[in-house]
Amino acid sequence: MKIVLASRNKHKISELQALLEKYIPDIEILSLDDVGFTEEIVEDGKDFCENAFIKARAAASTGYIGLGDDSGLSVRALGGAPGIYSARYAGEHGDDAANNALLLKNLEDKEDRHAEFVCVIACVYPQDTEKGYFFEGKTEGVIIDEYRGEGGFGYDPLFYYEPFGKTFAEMSAEEKNSISHRGKAIELFAKELLKEKKEI
Ligand code: IMP
Repeated sequence: MKIVLASRNKHKISELQALLEKYIPDIEILSLDDVGFTEEIVEDGKDFCENAFIKARAAASTGYIGLGDDSGLSVRALGGAPGIYSARYAGEHGDDAANNALLLKNLEDKEDRHAEFVCVIACVYPQDTEKGYFFEGKTEGVIIDEYRGEGGFGYDPLFYYEPFGKTFAEMSAEEKNSISHRGKAIELFAKELLKEKKEI
């Protein structure tokens, strides 16, 4: 079974491959580069679902089952920000240090530190690209004032997950995958795929 993930990031492709293989051994995750998709995908949706759908549709236009994912951090005291703007909260896309610094600055006078990571995976079949199947994972935590841990990326050093007593950046990849928003969304998707496979 071949699926195209709307990404050119090799790390994302191999992470998804490893997670899905556990459920579906014969699965093969392809990148946009693998299938020769060169167009730019404009992510102008108003929420995680719309952005994931835009990406999944583009991937499905290649003739394979298309997957798109969108994720981010939603902080309660900031009305859900940075949300879909998580990657470019401070302006420049992917500037994790600036994003984290701005997050702490905006939370300076806030007592409520509740936050959640959200990941939405959209799946689109090439036969009907108007329809999307959605899988959402969420993980709750709190934003702490000091940077802890060296692992992960993005907001991981500030996102403290109480049940493990660690930030995401202090966890191993396996630990993080077992409770992360992305791990949960992927698991839901994998289980649905497995169910479908059995029914065919
Ligand atoms: P993407 O949709 O996976 O590209 O993620 C968008 C942005 O959300 C990233 O650039 C990060 O700033 C943030 N983000 C999403 N997932 C995580 C995570 O697991 N840890 C830390 N930051 C994340």
